[in-house]
Amino acid sequence: MSHLFSLAGKRVLLTGSARGIGFLLARGLGEAGAEVIINATTAEGAEQSAAKLRELGVQAHAKAFDVTQSAQVQQAVDEIEAQWGPIDILVNNAGIQRRRPFLEFPEQDWNDVIAVNQTAVFLVSQTVAKKMVDRQRGKIINIGSMQSELGRDTITPYAASKGAVTMLTRGMCVELARHNIQVNAIAPGYFVTEMTQALADDPAFTGWLTKRTPAARWGKPEELIGAAVFLASGASDFVNGHLLFVDGGMRVAV
Ligand code: NDP
Repeated sequence: MSHLFSLAGKRVLLTGSARGIGFLLARGLGEAGAEVIINATTAEGAEQSAAKLRELGVQAHAKAFDVTQSAQVQQAVDEIEAQWGPIDILVNNAGIQRRRPFLEFPEQDWNDVIAVNQTAVFLVSQTVAKKMVDRQRGKIINIGSMQSELGRDTITPYAASKGAVTMLTRGMCVELARHNIQVNAIAPGYFVTEMTQALADDPAFTGWLTKRTPAARWGKPEELIGAAVFLASGASDFVNGHLLFVDGGMRVAV
């Protein structure tokens, strides 16, 4: 059965993959056989992380670009395909979080969150999907969030942007399925990364989280790898428009 999940011969572009969840997903997809392209906002960050993966035996390349800038996205995708070959799988992982009560939330922070978490999913997906349509195959995996399902204070713009990722996933699924492109999303619960480190270090928050989560703990980023390998592999060829929660059961608990 293991061949079902093999990514040998597949090439994956992961946005925002020099650190955090994106890096672990790149490592996991690479260890499943894929060639991976690491993206970050700086060339140095992307190259350092690609080099780390190469040390682990993963075939990894680096491509820096800002996912919110359409000209940079187009140029990067063209260069990736010219240099290394077709992108078979796209993982839209880049994301940012800003925490502030709704009544005090600065408009600029709203714009930044929407640009990276929402608009970039549209931009990068559209650019890559046009090439996938020419080949009549491809897979797109969006990293949404369980927060799109819950109302919680201080992160309303983030939750709204991730709600949009859910609907981008469903809409793209419907429009691209006829081209043999599957579009799915992973909705992580709480995972310890730089994005959430301050919360993880706060005993009051971690106390709340362990009570609120049936699994009674934070998630580890490597626990997202299985979901990504499944959605990237042939094992999920008839899975489309799905939002896969990896959250220790938090979403369904009261
Ligand atoms: P991190 O803050 O650790 O990493 C974010 C990544 O996004 C970095 O690699 C960063 O690049 C990249 N990025 C940010 N802005 C841009 C941009 N404009 N262009 C290109 N890359 C960009 O976050 P996580 O690993 O925690 O989060 C990864 C994804 O998972 C996000 O979409 C997040 O919303 C989602 N998520 C995270 C959860 C968690 O608990 N941690 C829970 C649910 C969802 P650079 O290294 O260059 O700064």
